[in-house]
Amino acid sequence: MNTLLITNATAILTGLSGEAARTAGPDIRIADGRITAIGALTPQRGESIIDASDCVIYPAWVNTHHHLFQSLLKGDPLGINATLTPWLGKTPYRYRSAFDAETFRLAARIGLVELALSGCGTVADHHYLYYPGMNFDGGDILFEEAEALGLRFALCRGGATITRQLEADLPQALRPETLDVYLADVERLANRYHDAAPDAMRRVVVAPTTPPHSMRPDELREVAAVARGMGLRLHSHLSETVSYQDATQDKFKASPVRFCESIDWLGSDVWFAHLVHLDEDEIALLGATGTGIAHCPQSNGRLASGIAPVRALEAAGAPVSIGVDGAASNEAADMISEVHAAWLMQRAKFGERSTALYRGGAGEQGADAATVEDVVRWGSAGGARILGLDDVGTLEVGKAADIAIYALDRDPRYFGLHDPAIGPVASGGAAHLRALLVGGRVIVRDGALPGVDMGELAHAARHAVKTLMARAEVV
Ligand code: ZN
Repeated sequence: MNTLLITNATAILTGLSGEAARTAGPDIRIADGRITAIGALTPQRGESIIDASDCVIYPAWVNTHHHLFQSLLKGDPLGINATLTPWLGKTPYRYRSAFDAETFRLAARIGLVELALSGCGTVADHHYLYYPGMNFDGGDILFEEAEALGLRFALCRGGATITRQLEADLPQALRPETLDVYLADVERLANRYHDAAPDAMRRVVVAPTTPPHSMRPDELREVAAVARGMGLRLHSHLSETVSYQDATQDKFKASPVRFCESIDWLGSDVWFAHLVHLDEDEIALLGATGTGIAHCPQSNGRLASGIAPVRALEAAGAPVSIGVDGAASNEAADMISEVHAAWLMQRAKFGERSTALYRGGAGEQGADAATVEDVVRWGSAGGARILGLDDVGTLEVGKAADIAIYALDRDPRYFGLHDPAIGPVASGGAAHLRALLVGGRVIVRDGALPGVDMGELAHAARHAVKTLMARAEVV
């Protein structure tokens, strides 16, 4: 059997909790795409070796919320200082019709390359660029691009059957689909791509873009029933800003999470991006039903949405994962930047609530709100759990060999660390990958992806941005 040995790691975080969050290693053996041993291992004759001296090893990240087409919409001046609702009109909606197959493929490639180079092995993309008469299929392109790089990929099939404005007033690219068309495409995608295996490379998820705005309640209920009948998970946006609370109060006389309860959109097969603004009742309900969160701290900061109550959700029983969200609202859409922000922002959130002793408060607090081990667990095991990839997300014998190996010997930001294990998360910045493995296959080696010419990609991106700007529509 052809085996691979990763040797001499400085530190290993496993993605597990408690004492098991770290293992001494320093070696990991892989055969047939799985981890077969962790410990002090002796190289075998003919075995391939990856030298992990001066390296820290984490499980490859699992990104549970993204919009890859936005990778060519970074830093749009019209949207750079806008909150969510005006930003939607100024940036992503304005550019919907500007994409064709070529620009869409390039955007997907840029986003996936950026993620892979940060140590991400699994990507769930919430793809909602669908409208009647569009002349390319983004879902097929996304699966092709992920496969070309060797990444696991979950297509969350977005879309809408209603819009906030009168349909006749809208440009073609903002018009909704019918429910029949939506469900027929879900079935097509599931038949073509969905693999229910615990280490699947391809998954399909049912994901209307935003429950209060994208479909009628009876349609959302039907969509949930169809998804469950096919064994597909459910995903969407929820409670990103306070405007969700206004919308569901106004339309349904309920909180956003209570509204989702009424349409059968809670459960361990459902996860929502953001969940920033929640009341106590909603947190308890999400926890009791095992409904998950894709925590997107950088996008939530960029759009001034707020900081999600991740600790309270986890304490209530809700699975926690990390998503980078689309690059039109996160100009650092890589997993290292995202987990660095998650680590800092959970602490800042608790610190914000601290009150001086003389005013009756508890004094300083909050520095244990998120440890590096917590953040690694959320970004790896948590994401795999939410996607139902039960053999992915932790470094344990028998699990899929999805492994990120970070070199700490080529960037002064890591020099002087007393506990190298925390370096990639605590020090942040650009990752230096010695290797990234997905299912035991090396897809990044010494910071490079085979077949990806970064100069060519940069040139194509500059050209595509000009093309998209010339095509943008006034909404
Ligand atoms: Zn999003």
